[in-house]
Parts: sequence; structure tokens; C-alpha cells
Amino acid sequence: MRFVENFNSLIVRYSEIGLKSSQVRREMEKRLIKNLEKAYRSEGVNFIQVLKRASRIVVYTSDPKVREVTKLVFGVKSYSPTLETEADIEELKKASLSIAAKERGSFAVRVRRITKNFPLTSIETARLVGSVIKEQIGRPVDLTNPNQEIFIELIGKKAYVTDEKISGYGGLPVGTQGQVLALISSGIDSPVAAWLIMRRGAQVIPVHFKKTDEEEEGFMRLVSVLKKFSYGANFKPIVVKHATALRKYLERGAREWICLLCKRRMLVLANKIANQLGASAIVTGDSLGQVASQTLENLEVETHCLEKPVLRPLIGMDKDDIVKMAKKIGTYDISIVYDVTCPFVPKKPKTKSRWDKFLKVARRVGADDLLDACKGA
Ligand code: ATP
Ligand code: MG
Repeated sequence: MRFVENFNSLIVRYSEIGLKSSQVRREMEKRLIKNLEKAYRSEGVNFIQVLKRASRIVVYTSDPKVREVTKLVFGVKSYSPTLETEADIEELKKASLSIAAKERGSFAVRVRRITKNFPLTSIETARLVGSVIKEQIGRPVDLTNPNQEIFIELIGKKAYVTDEKISGYGGLPVGTQGQVLALISSGIDSPVAAWLIMRRGAQVIPVHFKKTDEEEEGFMRLVSVLKKFSYGANFKPIVVKHATALRKYLERGAREWICLLCKRRMLVLANKIANQLGASAIVTGDSLGQVASQTLENLEVETHCLEKPVLRPLIGMDKDDIVKMAKKIGTYDISIVYDVTCPFVPKKPKTKSRWDKFLKVARRVGADDLLDACKGA
């Protein structure tokens, strides 16, 4: 990785926000700036100001910590610690030389005019800056496979010079897409599902249905990792008692139906909580056919007549891909410690259920409250 030492600013690039209508874009840009400021304040990053400049956001800072904290803010496509100079060819040469002097081997200068007021074209600027580096430092130019790329972005009266481009996670700023409840266990899948929905700009309320102390501990640890990505939103976890109800169903002979009763109870109660808190949807980590309980037939019974949409961002993903994402997010190491086998799972859980059969079982085991949603339907 390359470093712009003594940088005085950082520029943030976003992609999808730029495709929105001007009014939506303005709101999203404002939100992104607010979320960046909150992230920097919470993590103790020293910065002077965050402001919008054409289609970029500029942060005035020279704190190295800004590199890792900017990464956590959704809506950021990429970012670079930069040297801000006046948009003046002599200033550009000076800043580029100072960056080129830190490296050896071939180099390329890449110029982008974000606003078009600079008197030279991008190619002319790149040539002038490149030839000065070649003459003064004696490094060769290689435009196809250079050892170092020097990027110059021209915005209004300012220019930003860097040789570092760090990828963000993209998405939309948290807080631009309303609230959702995320059902999170201590396993690998559900934290990834919650993260993906947060990345699309939703505020997530984490909800856990408690079966064991250990699983709850895992959930709380996962929440503390996910919280880092939710600057700009509340992220208060909710824990709901679940074990006593499951024990009651088992005592009344629901053995092979227990997983369905368990999921149905979670979703029915989540619907109520969502209504109370004004959340618009529920997120789960289901992936089609991944385990016996996640068949289409079962998913249908679990959500029959429920009012809130259930979002399942992992539904079409393979386990390998989910694991890769969990590692990238930082939840995987916690999940593999706490993802213990559920103490209520029977040897042969029902894989292909039907609503009419479930209805009878639920009545038999005293789970009538799980059917209420269908009364008026
Ligand atoms: P995960 O890896 O997220 O635990 P899983 O593959 O083990 O998922 P299931 O146990 O069938 O699958 O759970 C499906 C989904 O139901 C989970 O992804 C999660 O969203 C939700 N869920 C399961 N257990 C709990 C729990 N104890 N509390 C809250 N939500 C839960
Ligand atoms: Mg699980």
C-alpha cells in the first residue's frame, strides 16, 4: 500500500448517490457528510471540516486514523488521503514531485477534471506534470503497468494529489432508507444479512430471541461489531425471551414441528415490535435450502398472513460466499465460537410443511397466538 505522507485532506468518492435526481442526491450527500462527521467524532479522528465540493466530499484532516474510520461509512465508494493545492500547474508539479520522490520505478500521472474550469485538458496536465517528474527524479513513464500511479483531481480552484485509492463498501448512507428489524442469532448468516441491509442505507434494530445464555452473549458481541457500521443511527439491541415458549410446545408433543413454531413465533413477535417501533420490514439470514428448515414450503408457513415484508438478502447466496462476507465484515470469528447447535432441534425437523397442518399442530400445543395474524385474512 502506498502512503501520502503529510496529507492535509481526504477526498471521498461516491457512486450510486451520483445517479439520483438532484433533490434526492442533495439529501443523501448531506446525510453522508453527517455520518462521516459522526464516525470521526466517535472514533476520535482529528478533523477540521467535512464539506461537499462538486461531486466529491473533502475532509480537512491529517490524522492517519481517518483511513480506517472512513472505511466504515456506507455510501463511500473510494477515498484518498490527498495533498490539497491551488489548481495551478506549478503547484501541481510541486505536490506531485513530493509524492513521486517517495517511490522508485515507473510511474503514470492520471488527471481528472471534476469541474471543467482548469485551462489545460487532462492529457496536457498529465504530460506537463509527468515530464517534470521524469526530468527531476529520473523515473520512467509507464502508462499501462506503472509501479506508482499519481492521481490528480481538479475541482474548482483546488486540486487534490495522491497515489493512494482505498475502496469503501459502497451502498447508501445509513439513515436514508427507513428502519428495519434484523433478527440476529449468534450464527454466521444473520449478521451478514443485517450488514447488507445497513449497507443499503437502512437503520437496523437488532433483535434476538433468547434460547440460551451463550447464544445471547454471541449476539451481543456480534452487535458490537455491526454497530461500527451504523454511524448516524441508533443501534439498540432488543432481547426477547423465547426458551419457555419452546419448552411448552415440546412438552405438548410438537417435536418435529418445533423449528417451524420457533421461527413463526420469532416472526409474529417481530411484526408486533416492528409496529410498535415504526419499522417497515424484518430482515433474516435465511438462504434457500441451506438447512432442512429453510425450504420454500417452510418459509411460506413461517410468514403466512404476516403484515410486514420479510427481507432475506442471503436467499440466493451460497454458504461459501456468505462466509467470505462474514470474514470481511469481522463477524465470522465470533460466529464460529458461538454458533452452537440449538438445544431444541429434533433429529428430524419438518422440511416440507403446509399451513393447514401447521394450524392444527399450533392449536394442539397451545400456540394459538401464532395464528392471530390470519384471523381477518
Ligand atoms: P444464522 O447463521 O443466522 O444463525 P441459520 O442458517 O442457522 O442462520 P436458522 O437457524 O434456520 O438458520 O435461522 C434462520 C434465520 O432466523 C436466521 O438467519 C436469523 O435471521 C433468524 N434467527 C434464528 N435464530 C434466531 C435467534 N435466536 N434470534 C433472532 N433471530 C434468529
Ligand atoms: Mg443459526
